[in-house]
Amino acid sequence: MEFKYPQYSHCTLCPRECGADRNSGQKGFCKMPPVPVVNLYKLHFGEEPCISGTRGSGTVFFEGCDLGCRFCQNYKISNGATGKGRMCAADELAGIYMELQAQDAHNINLVTPMHFAPAVADSIRRAKASGLTIPAALNISGYDKADTLALFEGAADIFLTDFKFYSPELSEAVCGVSDYREAATAALDTMAGMAGKPVFGADGMLVSGVIVRHLMLPGHLFDTKKILDLLLDRYGDRIIISLMNQYTPTEPAIRLCGQNKLPAEFAGRVNKDHYNAMCDYLSLSGHPCCYMQTEDASGEDWIPGFRY
Ligand code: SF4
Repeated sequence: MEFKYPQYSHCTLCPRECGADRNSGQKGFCKMPPVPVVNLYKLHFGEEPCISGTRGSGTVFFEGCDLGCRFCQNYKISNGATGKGRMCAADELAGIYMELQAQDAHNINLVTPMHFAPAVADSIRRAKASGLTIPAALNISGYDKADTLALFEGAADIFLTDFKFYSPELSEAVCGVSDYREAATAALDTMAGMAGKPVFGADGMLVSGVIVRHLMLPGHLFDTKKILDLLLDRYGDRIIISLMNQYTPTEPAIRLCGQNKLPAEFAGRVNKDHYNAMCDYLSLSGHPCCYMQTEDASGEDWIPGFRY
């Protein structure tokens, strides 16, 4: 089994560019080994309709994260290895994708895989060579680098990427990085170039393209407004926009707010009027393809049952 891709020997896969020698056991910010660690894979029905469809999206949840939002909704698996995950080389990952395809998944949906990018890109290619015919989607934070995304050229068909913050002060307060907007914009330029305009199948499912997700954050209406303006002006109909209201204050987030390690408003929820105002704004923009959520989309029930 091949684990030692050269990129892990001086890891600069994400914009944090730690330089850790993960092949020799060093850990960078993401605290993850060079071998992909899968916590859970299953058919998932909570994505956008053109991804989940009626049969579900074949979703693979990887452990660890290179961005590390302190309010993370997947905190049970994103903050380093749980000890309950399964280490998978590229050929084993390819086998998981084939299993999900056999379960009739509409697509393969890889959640937070970028700190394992070389192995994951390899796994998609191996699966395609072995008969994977459904689209492969990268479900990522947006804090990504063009050269790491380029590893997926010809492998990834769909990008489900976040655009989380506009203000450098906000990204610094939440993730400890002030260059989120800059990095996410450069990454989105790359993704839009790689995937091209959205293409849908006859069944209405997305075949290729970019969905940009923005999770509205409590108390940050104007950050959302600026992000929508950026997306509409810079990318127009080259992307699908998904405006989300499902922010849920997790137990660790509430604790961090109490310790002044996260702004106090993150212990609350998104104001409904603020969300509705942004939905109206997006609707009136005339953007041809966007998703918005209903009021019942937030809450811990929507967080998958991870092993941890
Ligand atoms: S992927 Fe992990 S080790 Fe590599 S640069 Fe990013 S945080 Fe550091």
